[in-house]
Amino acid sequence: MDYIIAKSIVSNYKEDNNWFGANYTMNIYKGCCHGCIYCDSRSDCYAIENFDNVRAKENSLDIIRKELKSKRKKGVVSTGSMSDPYNPFEKKYNLTGRALEIINENGFGIEIATKSDLITRDVEILKRIKEHSPVICKLTITTMDDELCKKIEPNVAVTSKRFKAIEKLSSEGIYTGVLLMPILPFINDSEENIISIVRMAKKCGAKFVYPLFGVTLRNNQRDYFFKALDKNFYGVKEEYLNVFGYEYLCLSPNANYLYKILSDECKKLDILYKMKDIVEDYKKGYFNEQISLFDI
Ligand code: SF4
Repeated sequence: MDYIIAKSIVSNYKEDNNWFGANYTMNIYKGCCHGCIYCDSRSDCYAIENFDNVRAKENSLDIIRKELKSKRKKGVVSTGSMSDPYNPFEKKYNLTGRALEIINENGFGIEIATKSDLITRDVEILKRIKEHSPVICKLTITTMDDELCKKIEPNVAVTSKRFKAIEKLSSEGIYTGVLLMPILPFINDSEENIISIVRMAKKCGAKFVYPLFGVTLRNNQRDYFFKALDKNFYGVKEEYLNVFGYEYLCLSPNANYLYKILSDECKKLDILYKMKDIVEDYKKGYFNEQISLFDI
């Protein structure tokens, strides 16, 4: 694995983060080799060269230790926004795992987003963090069909393995749920797909399913996505161009209906699906803070 120099890794404190209520962000790796066809981090605006080539930030653990010690406010650290913290190199290098130890030693909470079942390796350290601070794990699930999953997220654990990871984390008392996004118009935006994911989430002990019934597309990311559509989804690129042109937000034509069936099913099964409720629930009993979040 290659290394790059980083001056800083943990961001400044943010009080009211609308995205799962995290107060800090942390990315130990730059780039991601999971190959998701819709990955937003490929967009020109982030200017990440050779995005598929994973690089680790040099001395990342020392930097994280020093930065956490200097923070005046405790809070939840988020990881997994611009690269998956459980890429294949993590198995050998254990940088995310060791960063979790540092987070625990310094009394912070953690929010993890991943598509890899390698996260279950760290269940014991997550349990230790949970003793003093909030912990939330989000596994992305976009389709119930493992074969379709291999086409849209080709280099990472398939859906069935991700559900097993949710089951393992939940059974160990870790607050875990599903990021149901992106739902790609004309590919996985069916009622059957949504209902089956919510039901399986419940079966595996997930506490929430948080959806986006569409995908966002920007320069460069869109080119990569369209090439993948040409390769595996005959005629679908033309449908995107007809319906959305070059718009940023491409919502499923069924978005309103799918949200309705998701919310009905979640209510029936007692699963959370609104950001405000999820944040309040996983932080319950930890920080005595005012939470101000959007409610959709
Ligand atoms: S796992 Fe996340 S960062 Fe990696 S390619 Fe997929 S969407 Fe992009």
